Amino acid sequence: MKTEFLRAAIARATETMRAHNQELTELDQAIGDGDHGTNMQRGFDAIEASADEISPLDLGAALQKAGMTLVTTVGGASGPLYGSLLMSMGKAASSEPTDRASFAAVFSEGVDAVKRRGKSDVGAKTMLDVLVPVLQALQDDGGDAVAVARQAADEGLESTRNMLATKGRASFLGERSVGHLDPGARSSALLVHVVCDLIEESQ
Ligand code: ADP
Ligand code: MG
Repeated sequence: MKTEFLRAAIARATETMRAHNQELTELDQAIGDGDHGTNMQRGFDAIEASADEISPLDLGAALQKAGMTLVTTVGGASGPLYGSLLMSMGKAASSEPTDRASFAAVFSEGVDAVKRRGKSDVGAKTMLDVLVPVLQALQDDGGDAVAVARQAADEGLESTRNMLATKGRASFLGERSVGHLDPGARSSALLVHVVCDLIEESQ
């Protein structure tokens, strides 16, 4: 069951990055250097190439291996950031999370690692503007977990539109970063949707 879930998650995430490669490229062309689509695609292609090795592992080891793969294959800032997210989640997932609270505890370790690695937090127009609200929605314990996570991801993504970027390449643009969605927030929202869809389908 778990192996099949991981296999499906890898396939779905890779497919999604492929399908949205152009969109992520265009978002990054507007406020960065235009490589976010390629970076995400390269990273997930590499994870997919190792799917046979990753899927049978314990969840913790699988997340760590997937995270390490992103760190070693993605050149941009997003590789080490997503790599830290997955590796720290993997270290925290010593036993498999079985409910919302235990999943939130694991996810929280990952989000903290992104904050540390990026020296950043919500409000800087980054992936954290999706990841942090999703974590908060899971920790709040109200509503259906999958539904509140999706909504938090969508609202968090939209919140980046009118933010001034203060971290990453987009910060070099100053005021000109305002009016565009953040590419990393978009890829995070896409990945949150992938996980939510798979959890829903497996219930
Ligand atoms: P690069 O910026 O090196 O070209 P990417 O284009 O792949 O790398 O990734 C850019 C995304 O990474 C941004 O849209 C943002 O969401 C995220 N990002 C960049 N710097 C930081 C940071 N310091 N903290 C959190 N996220 C960041
Ligand atoms: Mg870029």
